[in-house]
Amino acid sequence: MPELPEVETTCRGIAPHVEGRTVTAVAVREARMRRPVPAGLAAELPGQTIEAVSRRGKYLLLRAPAGTVLIHLGMSGSLRVVPPDAPLRKHDHVDIIFGAQALRYHDPRRFGVIDWWGGPIETHPLIAPLGIEPLSPAFNGPWLYRATRGRRSAIKLFLMDAHTLVGVGNIYASESLFRAGIRPATPAGRLSAARCERLAEAVKETLRLAIQAGGSTLRDFVGSDGEPGYFQQEAFVYGRAGLPCRQCGTPIRQQVMGQRSTFWCPTCQH
Ligand SMILES: [Zn+2]
Repeated sequence: MPELPEVETTCRGIAPHVEGRTVTAVAVREARMRRPVPAGLAAELPGQTIEAVSRRGKYLLLRAPAGTVLIHLGMSGSLRVVPPDAPLRKHDHVDIIFGAQALRYHDPRRFGVIDWWGGPIETHPLIAPLGIEPLSPAFNGPWLYRATRGRRSAIKLFLMDAHTLVGVGNIYASESLFRAGIRPATPAGRLSAARCERLAEAVKETLRLAIQAGGSTLRDFVGSDGEPGYFQQEAFVYGRAGLPCRQCGTPIRQQVMGQRSTFWCPTCQH
């Protein structure tokens, strides 16, 4: 499943092929996604020039004068830049065509979203409730300390709540807590200011390293036959139940928390 680093890499991968280009046509072959692809996309986007490509949480935003195209990759979505006459594969649902190039959306499970929004994007119902961006300067130790006061829920669940902080999924929450030396079940409100500082840094570092790892896949966005890679970093704890901790050798433990598997080292994390 594409997480924040994959979406950021997709954003960087497609931007040079999309920014400053004018849409000549839109082909919607399958409109049934998590939300239906609106008719306005094919009606209003052609003739518009994409001014900027950006990311908010796990949403890609293609800004044009008359509105914004919002794309979420769902569970299995991917984007590639191809010639518009490149043979269609199964599940190639939408093309946004820029003359001799097309941005092609592929999604076997169709849990993704492609929407067209004429108003300010921060008023979109999927964007408005999103929390703070973990890679923004506003997310830091003091912010985390303030936001967790009085919160009894486990710090791992706090990190994964998109209304609070966007884009920190199960893998990155587990890995960040390991880096910070904090047990996932620790009540959020009990963390000291110093531990909040360490955790905020660990979240940023974990995401940055994953984005760096994705940099090597940037060329896959153009002209390749395969999917752009969803990269798996070498994990410290995630998916390693029973295996020796890479830092101290203690077997990694696993526990279900909020319906998701959580992994931690009982020696390195307190
Ligand atoms: Zn350990």
